[in-house]
Amino acid sequence: MRDNHLLTFANHPEKTMSKSTSKTTGLHPDSLLAHAGGGFDQATGAVVPPIQTATTFVRDEDYEPIGPGYIYSRDDNALYKKVEKLIADLEGGEDSRLFASGMAAVAAVARLVKPGGTILAQSGIYWGTTLFLRKYCARNNIALVEVDVSDFKAFHDEFSVTQPNLVWLEVPSNPFLKVADIQRISDLCKSAETLLTVDATAATPLILKPLSLGADLVMHSATKALNGHSDLLGGVVTTGDIDSEAWTFISEERHDAGAVLGSFEAWLLLRGLRTLALRVERMNKNALTLAKHLDAHPKVKAVLYPGLESHAQHQLAKAQMTGGYGSLMSILVNGGKDAALKVTGALDIFQRATSLGGTESLIEHRQTIEGEASGIPGDLLRLSIGIEHVDDLIGDLDQALSTL
Ligand code: PLP
Repeated sequence: MRDNHLLTFANHPEKTMSKSTSKTTGLHPDSLLAHAGGGFDQATGAVVPPIQTATTFVRDEDYEPIGPGYIYSRDDNALYKKVEKLIADLEGGEDSRLFASGMAAVAAVARLVKPGGTILAQSGIYWGTTLFLRKYCARNNIALVEVDVSDFKAFHDEFSVTQPNLVWLEVPSNPFLKVADIQRISDLCKSAETLLTVDATAATPLILKPLSLGADLVMHSATKALNGHSDLLGGVVTTGDIDSEAWTFISEERHDAGAVLGSFEAWLLLRGLRTLALRVERMNKNALTLAKHLDAHPKVKAVLYPGLESHAQHQLAKAQMTGGYGSLMSILVNGGKDAALKVTGALDIFQRATSLGGTESLIEHRQTIEGEASGIPGDLLRLSIGIEHVDDLIGDLDQALSTL
């Protein structure tokens, strides 16, 4: 079991150091976040932890590591551990590992599957993940089967035939906002000793906790809402079982392959996390208001957002998610690709940029990014809703849609 060396930044070391306390801090996640996980710098009394820039740590005369036992920052440092502990707490998990980007986290999980194995992945998920899995599996003699998990029967049939080693879900999916039934799929996975990983980037741990629904691993691109300010790349994987083989592998992989987050980024991420609860609350509220508005708009053909009652998996989303449905949505506009591009070009407040989860609202024409071969419709626009006043967002979209 991994020690959590939080002594350098802890009010109550006895409360924060043991494995079980991650689920028993007794604090509401909002409070834990506001205090960046709690505590203060024991060395100086600072309420903000220092950036740990050292790559290496001295040993004593007997060549034993000093104090908490840090050796080299590709292994660990106090700041990584603090951020990892906070995220593990949010997830209701036992431990987390920060990675250099969301894709580095995706890659570490995919490498759990050895040549000859099979990955059953949700279709229509983040294009970067799909592309990586396709290339990685092709290069390593791993079978990759992509299936639409919003149809449980189709998923079940494919699962029975392929008997995968790893199931990969994205909930809700980017950019189609489909919602997989994590509990049901996890029951299936458990019956076959298949590992279940959920990328919950578009939800955040505040509104979706895949580990509590039976997933083995949950991952996030911390580049998105966890940091929330569009100014760092990061990824994180969290486990519900610190003693599992999978977790031993992920931890070793982070260390051995070296895709560790930089210390400056870890510090920025912790600062971003302090306001996660407020940001998520506002973004979810804005997104739902906007989704309802756009759903009734004559120039909009469809709105893909799990918070809408018309969404095919709305009831499932309602049961799985708490406190909102996320800040990501897609719309299909009347008039095809040209109309979609015209709308993006006419926007003033929404920034025309890729990514999601930042304080600023973004819009993206996914087909331009992915190419037509990915199957993404030309009339689809992906929206990441920020923390602006919702009236400004509605006004901006209305004036852009009025150009059609
Ligand atoms: N997972 C999802 C759902 C994403 O949207 C993204 C990026 O957009 C990633 C993973 C990859 O994250 P990163 O860009 O931090 O590598």
